[in-house]
Amino acid sequence: MPTATLPKFINVSILDFSDPEDRKKMESAIKKMKSEMGKEYPIIIGGEEVFLDKKFGSYNPSHKHEVVGIFQKADKEAAEKAMQAALKAFETWKFTPAEERAEYLLKVSELMKKKRFELDAVMVLEEGKNWIEADGDLCEAIDFLEYYARQIIEIDKGVPLTEYAPEDNKAAYIPLGVGIVIPPWNFPNAILTGMTSSALAAGNTVILKPASDAPWIATKVMELFSEAGIPSGVLNLVTGPGSVAGNYLVEHPKTRFISFTGSMEVGKGIYAKAGKVVPGQIWLKRAVIEMGGKDAIIVDSETDITNAADGVATSAFGFQGQKCSACSRCIVVEDVYDEFVEKLKKRVEKITTGDVADHDNWMGPVINEASFKKAMEYIEIGKKEGKLLNGGEGDDSEGYFIKPTVFIDIESQSQLGQEEIFAPVLAVIKAKDYDDAIRIANDTIYGLTGAVYTDNEEKIEKAIREFHVGNLYFNRKCTAAFVGIHPFGGFNMSGTDSKTGAPGHLLLFMQMKMWSRKK
Ligand code: NAP
Ligand code: MG
Repeated sequence: MPTATLPKFINVSILDFSDPEDRKKMESAIKKMKSEMGKEYPIIIGGEEVFLDKKFGSYNPSHKHEVVGIFQKADKEAAEKAMQAALKAFETWKFTPAEERAEYLLKVSELMKKKRFELDAVMVLEEGKNWIEADGDLCEAIDFLEYYARQIIEIDKGVPLTEYAPEDNKAAYIPLGVGIVIPPWNFPNAILTGMTSSALAAGNTVILKPASDAPWIATKVMELFSEAGIPSGVLNLVTGPGSVAGNYLVEHPKTRFISFTGSMEVGKGIYAKAGKVVPGQIWLKRAVIEMGGKDAIIVDSETDITNAADGVATSAFGFQGQKCSACSRCIVVEDVYDEFVEKLKKRVEKITTGDVADHDNWMGPVINEASFKKAMEYIEIGKKEGKLLNGGEGDDSEGYFIKPTVFIDIESQSQLGQEEIFAPVLAVIKAKDYDDAIRIANDTIYGLTGAVYTDNEEKIEKAIREFHVGNLYFNRKCTAAFVGIHPFGGFNMSGTDSKTGAPGHLLLFMQMKMWSRKK
């Protein structure tokens, strides 16, 4: 589609699978992708498929012995080749008109729409997403492609400057160079596609190092970019441990910027390394670092408690609590504490857990063995720090399943009150009153998402002023941010607040050049 006639951006609607046709399509896509499991996939450097000596497997967390695919374990040598390919491609890509770059994104969007059910099925099998979560992930990926395509066309229109009679002055945003894109495994299509397409749209070339728990979906997205005809070397895919190829590229003198989303621990390390100027480096690397959360929902007395319990359960246990935006602290004012706890218990009891290839299971497994063990350790800690209300059990005999777990009477400064668990474990904290609830909500090093359930306007105003998070919601869940509607990114140790899906996001990957001529 010619970019000049692009319709206004609108978000893709998520399927709810109530339509029997959609259910049938999804069932056959899962069957098809299951039949493709176990294949080996190359890394892509300068448009070439590359196979290496060392490989690793990606597994189905619902059936832990099922290998979904075999991938290449990139070493430093492969990473260096990817850097050379990306540097070479930058010399032409940086002068490719913005409209043309946008067209590639739009082509990928079209291809992704065509492959919708297959890609959804990959995320069911590789990441243990239930059908709706998988489709939500895919819709967000499409939204990013469409949104950033339009944004780069806007940015390309130029920079308005103040008139100055003796001179003719102009300014334009130009790309930075080679970017290293390091996404997490939990939104393996959405975040990966968003981070990749933003860097590319801005005119940079990219080395994409996907998470080791999600190389299958990363490879499938890479295939779409190749099918869309993205020139060789503009996007390179390098799978393998972050600590090897990822780290090598972060430290590389020719790396111009790093776009990272993941844990605070890894993010802090990358930020520090990005700040170190190494021999041969002639710029300061830019680092966009988005990290974890310990997100709180406040339940006030002036609200519908049943509705609040529903929102808290969905926010805490959607995708097994493995969202940076997941509610992991629920702060309830004393007056309604007992009533809320009772309603939450009943609501959580309704949650079904099991293999998500079966649409009837709302909650699936956690991603891997390490994650399962970590969550089970936190459950033991929770038993000491508070009172178990729901769940508390895990079963890893077939997949990494943990029952939705709620602890009540948790202190804010306890481990369960402070540390990101990234699993279906919720801490409920009692507050004396609303002011105390706001204080507790801010009593964390993070500042990503938060929500407040209250009908009181003054309390809403107070939260807008004082609840210090990047994404604040009222009377709704604290998960599910839509591109363009809810710009996403957090404060404090949740990251650099890059606000994805927001106006101006692409400027993070660009620099302004101005030129002035005497008239
Ligand atoms: P992670 O363990 O930090 O990994 C993120 C990425 O960094 C992966 O691709 C990983 O590769 C790579 N990596 C690891 N060590 C590295 C190193 N030394 N150098 C370069 N790259 C390295 O995070 P995750 O488990 O994938 O994702 C979950 C975390 O992401 C949670 O903390 C969650 O809150 C956060 N998250 C934040 C947002 C947000 O928008 N703020 C969104 C989603 C998720 P390997 O997999 O090969 O180790
Ligand atoms: Mg990890």
